[in-house]
Amino acid sequence: MADIIQLLPDHVANQIAAGEVVQRPASVVKELLENAIDAQATFVKLIIKDAGKTLIQVIDNGVGMSQTDARLSFERHATSKIRQADDLFQLHTKGFRGEALASIAAIAHVELKTKREHEEVGTHIIIEGSDVTSQEVVVTPTGTSVAVKNLFFNIPARRNFLKSNPVETRHIIDEFHRVALAHADISFTLHHNGSEIFNLPESNYRQRIVNIFGTKTNERLVPVKEDTELLKVSGFVVKPEYAKKTRGEQFFFVNDRFIKSSYLNHAINSAFDGLLRDGTHASYFLNLRVDPKTIDINIHPTKTEIKFDDEHSLYAILRSAVKHSLGQFNIAPVLDFDRDATMDTPYNYHDKGASVPTVEVDRSFNPFSEKEQSKQSVSFKKESTAGWESLYVGLQSDDEFSNFDTNMQFESDASTQQIFDEDTNKVVTTFQLQNKYIVNTIKSGMLIINQNKAHQRILYEQFLQDLTVKEAVSQQLLFPLELEFSTSEISIIKELESQLAQTGFVFSKLSKEGVALTGIPVSASETSVFKILEMLINDVQNEVPDSHFSQTDMLAKSLAKSLAVKNGQSLTQQEQEHILNSLFACKEPNVTPFGTKTFITVSSDDIDKKFN
Ligand code: ADP
Ligand code: MG
Repeated sequence: MADIIQLLPDHVANQIAAGEVVQRPASVVKELLENAIDAQATFVKLIIKDAGKTLIQVIDNGVGMSQTDARLSFERHATSKIRQADDLFQLHTKGFRGEALASIAAIAHVELKTKREHEEVGTHIIIEGSDVTSQEVVVTPTGTSVAVKNLFFNIPARRNFLKSNPVETRHIIDEFHRVALAHADISFTLHHNGSEIFNLPESNYRQRIVNIFGTKTNERLVPVKEDTELLKVSGFVVKPEYAKKTRGEQFFFVNDRFIKSSYLNHAINSAFDGLLRDGTHASYFLNLRVDPKTIDINIHPTKTEIKFDDEHSLYAILRSAVKHSLGQFNIAPVLDFDRDATMDTPYNYHDKGASVPTVEVDRSFNPFSEKEQSKQSVSFKKESTAGWESLYVGLQSDDEFSNFDTNMQFESDASTQQIFDEDTNKVVTTFQLQNKYIVNTIKSGMLIINQNKAHQRILYEQFLQDLTVKEAVSQQLLFPLELEFSTSEISIIKELESQLAQTGFVFSKLSKEGVALTGIPVSASETSVFKILEMLINDVQNEVPDSHFSQTDMLAKSLAKSLAVKNGQSLTQQEQEHILNSLFACKEPNVTPFGTKTFITVSSDDIDKKFN
């Protein structure tokens, strides 16, 4: 029998390699930015179209390439960065595999322009799916420009697998942040669909963080510094009271390279021990410097994981450095004996007002019944904030208008309550169990509804309808509501703007300069809007895989989840019945939008059995 093994042709090998290097547009962004930095650029411009699906271009003012190097750079294993195996242990560059350009050229249309200093003219190369279609001399500034167009044009399956534009943009911005944070001394700009999203001048580290995450960040940063023989740590942690619900702002850089390490993350968390509210995560921007000999960055193709020789010591040093900073900057609330403790709100209550967005949600709003529309002004605020706690919660809010708004609801509460009492002179059929379940009798026995889950279903169907059939009515605000988001969060909101408008969000301002709303969905309250949008952004970022990439669905789910009445909330008779009726008016009353049960039934047979 004839021999059957053959060497793969280069373009096939390159496509296979590309699968490892290029998962999505953001991977191309990372490789190109890193090449620019390795080329000693001091200015790097990133241009994106359609979340990188149409164009990713990086222009740098680095050393450029000779004509021969320009051509060679697209060959696999062609690198100027290592010459022998030993160099792997002395890496000072980002790249070293010589795979990126070859891989990218195998799956996209690539156009390269490059020129070295002191040379009159440069080189212009066009490559499409590994084939060089043109190579010419060109007049171009010193440095390199690589434009990657139509990513995955020859691998439709990969192209179809890309997520929605907001999600891919988010990944690109993440990569951009990582590189920009690791190199504050280099200036970066990012342009998306023709508008400038980031303009980061050369600066110190603190300024770079502030330029990316917003001016308010400045006062929230606590410097961390520690020099030991094994490890030098510098950077910042964010004060615990500003900890985020999402893990968004956690950055470790090892020798200027962004890395992920759950082990080192644990070290930071343990330094914050006792200072963070439940469900929040410390934010940090920490640069670690170690001898390149003591790490192995080669263990992962996309190089965000890393192996340290002496992890345990690094852990200990890092933890103590952060702990020391938190203590030194008086973040840890331990030694303050002079204060009258009885005047303090319990620690748990800090920011409680902000973290319980549902408190003022108008759950009596029944989207399905004309009659119910008139009851929209009813608020549950009264019950939910009964007792002394409400005083603190109210005080936490520094938004005068929202308090004003709350009071208004209180007043209207009393009058509308009356109307209800009059028409409910009928037999009580439901009752609430443990502020969580609505119990009702049915022919076969007993119906137990989970109030939160049921309401999610009700709101979900309502929002779907708003988004697809007819626009929801918007609740106009007396004064525009100004909200603060990071630039990348704003870009996500922008992508969703028209759909959000259909659910009732009206933006009077939505730009780098800020976000302001003049209208919000009727079922939301002013004070809950920020949390709702924050949650939505978070959901977009972690787009649930079973959503079939449908943004409409995701939006409806996210809003339903944020706005649904929480378990633990006491409900009046009317509210209970309202949920019951609305639930069974739904198309799919049995399950939440996330597929869990909204209610269960217990048959009288089952009950009978219990008595035997
Ligand atoms: P690696 O970065 O691992 O060496 P790449 O495929 O990313 O591999 O790049 C191949 C080579 O092309 C690099 O080693 C470098 O010599 C050259 N190169 C790539 N991008 C640039 C750039 N922006 N400026 C100058 N040279 C570059
Ligand atoms: Mg490279």
